[in-house]
Formats: sequence, C-alpha cells, structure tokens
Amino acid sequence: MNGDGDTAGPSVRRLSEWNADDLRALAAEYGTPLYVDDLERVRANHARLAGAFPDAEVLFAVKANAGRHVLRALRDAGAGAECASAGELARALDAGFAAGEIHYTAVNPPAEDLDYAVDVAAAHPALTVTAGARDTVERLAERGFAGRFCLRVHPGVGAGHSESVSTGKDAKFGVPADEASEVLNTAADHGFDVVGLHAHAGSGITNDQLDDHERVVSTLADVARETTHNLEFVDVGGGFGVPYRESEDPLDLAAVAERTRDALTDVDATLTIEPGRYLVADAGVLLTEVNTVKRVSGSVIAGADAGMTTLVRPAMYGSYHPIRSLADDDRATEEVSVVGPVCESTDVLGEARALPAPERGDLLAVGNAGAYGVEMASNYNSRPRPAVVALDDGPELVRRRETLADVTHAEDTAHTYPDP
Ligand SMILES: *Cc1c(COP(=O)(O)O)cnc(C)c1O
Repeated sequence: MNGDGDTAGPSVRRLSEWNADDLRALAAEYGTPLYVDDLERVRANHARLAGAFPDAEVLFAVKANAGRHVLRALRDAGAGAECASAGELARALDAGFAAGEIHYTAVNPPAEDLDYAVDVAAAHPALTVTAGARDTVERLAERGFAGRFCLRVHPGVGAGHSESVSTGKDAKFGVPADEASEVLNTAADHGFDVVGLHAHAGSGITNDQLDDHERVVSTLADVARETTHNLEFVDVGGGFGVPYRESEDPLDLAAVAERTRDALTDVDATLTIEPGRYLVADAGVLLTEVNTVKRVSGSVIAGADAGMTTLVRPAMYGSYHPIRSLADDDRATEEVSVVGPVCESTDVLGEARALPAPERGDLLAVGNAGAYGVEMASNYNSRPRPAVVALDDGPELVRRRETLADVTHAEDTAHTYPDP
C-alpha cells in the first residue's frame, strides 16, 4: 500500500523502538541535552510519502528542521525545499538544492527577505516565489521581480492539532479564494510568470480530518479551473500528521492521497506537497539527563537538563511528546512529571508519565523530536542551545553545543556590525 517497498520502512517508528544502548552511548559521547536525527528514517519517511503520491512533487518544509544534514539527505532522496524566510532560502541553496527545486513562501516578508529572494530569483530564474497578499505582489513588483510566481490562497478551512497552528482559518495566510483570479491577473500584468497555486491548511492533519483536507484542495481546484493562466502546479501544502501518542494510529496516507486526487479531478497541473513534520518528526529524539528528583505531596518531579528552551512544543502548544527512561527498567513505575531548568511554570516536557522511579543521573529520551525541536530552541534564560548528532553510517556531530560565548556573541560584537 505504501509504495516504495523496503526503503519506505514501517509507517510509524515508536520511541520504544530506538536502541537504548546506542542512545546511552551517544549521550555519554556528546553530552545532554542532545538531539539525535536518524537520516535513514528521514529517507524512509520520504520514500513512503513519495510512494503514496507517485506523481507529486515533494518539497520539504525546511522550517521543521533546517539542519544541513537533513536538507542534504532529503535533497539526495529527490525532494525539493519549501522555504519560509531568506535564511531558509540561503540554507537550502547552501545545502545544494537547485533553485528549480526551491519555493520561497513569503509570509509578511521583511524587506530584507524580499530583497534577497528577488536577487536569488534574478540570478536563478528557476526559483518559485509564493505570495499570499496583494501587498506582497506589489512589493515584489517594486523590486523588479519578473520570475516564477505562485499565489497562496486562503482556504477558509483549518485543520490541525492546535488553533495556533491552524493557519487556514487565519486571514494572515493567503488571499481569499474569490479574489485569487484578480490577484493572479495583477501578478501577470506586473510581468510575473504565473506558475502555481498554493494553500496550506495547518499542521497535523489526522485520519478524522480528511474532509477538511479535501475541502482545502477543492477550494484550490476551483481557483485552478477558473483561472486563464497556464498553471504548472497546484501545491496543497503540508500538515501530514504523525502520531505523537503511542495510542494514535499513523496517518492513512493512501486515504489522504485518494481524497487529494478526487478533489483535483480535471485540474491539469502537477500536484505539489510540502511535508515538514511527516518527514522528520519520528526520525529524531531528544536526550536529556535527570539532575533533580523531588517527591512532594504525592507528586514525583524529575528535573531534567532539557526544557522549554530545548523543546518548546509542550510549553507553547500543550503538545504531547512520548518520554522514555533509559535507566534500568527493573524499578517500580511511578507517575512522574518531567520538567526543565527554566524559571517558568510552563517549562514542562511531560506531566504524569508512567516511568521507572527516577533517580539523579537517569537518561530520558523524548520522542518525535525531529520536527520543530532544535529549530524552535531558544536562548531564553541565557541557555546555550543543544548539540545535534546525525545518524547515518555512524553518528556524526553536526551542530555543536552552544557555549556561553555564543549566547553573548551579538552583544560582544555589537559595535563591529554596520548600521542597517
Ligand atoms: C509549516 C508549513 C508547512 C509544513 O507543515 P508540516 O505540518 O510540518 O507538514 C508546509 N507549508 C507551509 C507553507 C508551511 O508554513
């Protein structure tokens, strides 16, 4: 069902399936907190998705994990890149993506981002620029942009695991469908090469949200059938969900693909998809060490060296990430809350988890950390960001742990930078 035979691997990789000895060895070698990205799993996820959408172009949404190791693995596997900022565009080019494999999606782009994207488009005409506001079209025109243009449409439906990532409902993203034709005409009048339509409904489409997904694609399909421009592709965005809880089933890709195809009947354009999370989430774990154990009025608190500055999703979205203790499993199980070192009550990685009674020095693994993990790490509390190890032929340190000098670097060098 899922296409590509062995290379696609099983449709879900649970945290329990990671080899505990290997993870302990990595923590011993590189310290904690440590992100571990398994590139073979990244490739398997890509193969499975590409297998379910055999005629589609797959663009990796770089914002999920912009590490060079991930970008290169996906480029080598045949994916393109969807970039949400000038920085991501620079990193995609640096990782070796050809401009023709890159879409830059401008969301209220700062001037510097647009300047850069227009420069790249001038030097590499194969780059596609996606915009979701009339203002962005005008700002591109002011900069003399005359390249490949894709219009982001506001699908009017949001799917997703949390209101805050349900971008389809939010007027911030895209132009309303009933204005799309007019904005496409404006773009063409400016001399842009109109090549595509885009919508991204939100993150975390699950098996019971297929109707929403189909509605989003249908909205795009309606615009595509209506327009007189010769569209090369229709990009239905990303948002392919992954099971964060052990009890959740993996997304039925075949069903998503079928609904997508159905909605695109009679649309003569290539299908493009932009998965982020799906390709990298279960390819990554975060390793963290317990440094403090507290037993207070019936609750057990395990204080760890990773927290909201390492992995912000639990604090920011209330997201669930599985947590596994890599300590001896002959201990009694307790309900444990795993918290971080940041002075904030939201600094929690997981609440009331059944774990072996924690002890100082225990190693914990936090699952599904490959997407929006290190990418959203911050220096809050003046905390250096964690290291990243890639697993391929063997482990390789691909991002060193930040030092205190990194944290103060922009202050220390404040006077050496030119004025804006
Ligand atoms: C974030 C984003 C994606 C990827 O979303 P996932 O949920 O990680 O698949 C794709 N396209 C756009 C425009 C995005 O903003």
